[in-house]
Amino acid sequence: MDDRDLALFPFISEASDHVGSLGFSLDRLISSRALDLARIRGKERVIQSISGEIEKTSFSGSEEGPVLSELLSYPFARILVSCIDDPFLTRRYSLAEAVAAYTLLKTRDVEFLSNFGNDFGVDARPSDSYFDINFTDYIKLASSMKDLKWKLVNRKLDHGNVRIAKEEFARLLQEVVRARIHDSLPIDVPEEICDLCAPYLDGIKEILDKRKTEYGAGDFEAVERELFPPCIAHAIANTMAGVNLAHSMRFAMTSFLLTVGMTVDDIINMFNVSPDFDVEKTRYQIEHISGSSGTTYKPPACATMKTYGNCYGEDELCKRIRHPLRYYSMKLWIKKRDEGKVKVQDKVVDPEQK
Ligand code: SF4
Repeated sequence: MDDRDLALFPFISEASDHVGSLGFSLDRLISSRALDLARIRGKERVIQSISGEIEKTSFSGSEEGPVLSELLSYPFARILVSCIDDPFLTRRYSLAEAVAAYTLLKTRDVEFLSNFGNDFGVDARPSDSYFDINFTDYIKLASSMKDLKWKLVNRKLDHGNVRIAKEEFARLLQEVVRARIHDSLPIDVPEEICDLCAPYLDGIKEILDKRKTEYGAGDFEAVERELFPPCIAHAIANTMAGVNLAHSMRFAMTSFLLTVGMTVDDIINMFNVSPDFDVEKTRYQIEHISGSSGTTYKPPACATMKTYGNCYGEDELCKRIRHPLRYYSMKLWIKKRDEGKVKVQDKVVDPEQK
């Protein structure tokens, strides 16, 4: 790969080796004036990941400076994410980097994708516009993809190989990129380095806190489905039974699930029960709600849910809350209290009052 590709795909081994060969010390990356642009872009990567999508960089001209800044912005972004060390941010950041990679990979030729896949241990033999993958490797790669088209029974098997289109292969690579980035975070960053990064961290934390405050996602480190409010649990049950939801309920459920930390793929998998399931259309709709268009959507309050006939199965706790997210926050708090993880006087995060 040339330097530009290394900058665009900075999570591959070759890019990391290249960064190592440049001999930049951690101190220099953090404080050299010459690397200001790399740090600014690194911070931008993290902020964009919180908002929805990391914008792709296009290089014009032959100057090396922008390419180097883009390349070094990645390790700096990882330092920032590691200093904050927040599971919600780590999930969003890894996914956003992977989605940005997918957007680029779709435009590359099969040779490029094949080499890219090798870096992740993916052995796929390219042809004109498709790939052949050994079926055991395919099962591993596609295990998280629940669209029926990914099921092995819906694939043509030829001498133990599965044939997939170029864009599908790029989509599978998105998942291995996401997993690599997610599983490698947080990195072990010395406290004094995080202190030096404070001017960058403050801005990110502010945006992250705002996002969490808006959506009440502050305590939502792991998604606890059994604590969902009755309306959302009912919608999920209907979805999984193949019942078509009203648009307003589908929006309420999707925005709720995104807010509590489910990924776009998790939700797609949940929707994926009908034979006419359109994964790309569904992905577009979910990503739109998650903020890819620049606008993020808040789940509706109980009053709105009632207006649209989406309030279902009110229970005792429902009488004390005004927002489904508040229901979830309180349930989480009660669970933690029962496990002795919070004290009775500790407050529940209330998305409505912040
Ligand atoms: S009161 Fe609110 S949280 Fe409870 S079921 Fe109705 S909409 Fe959902």
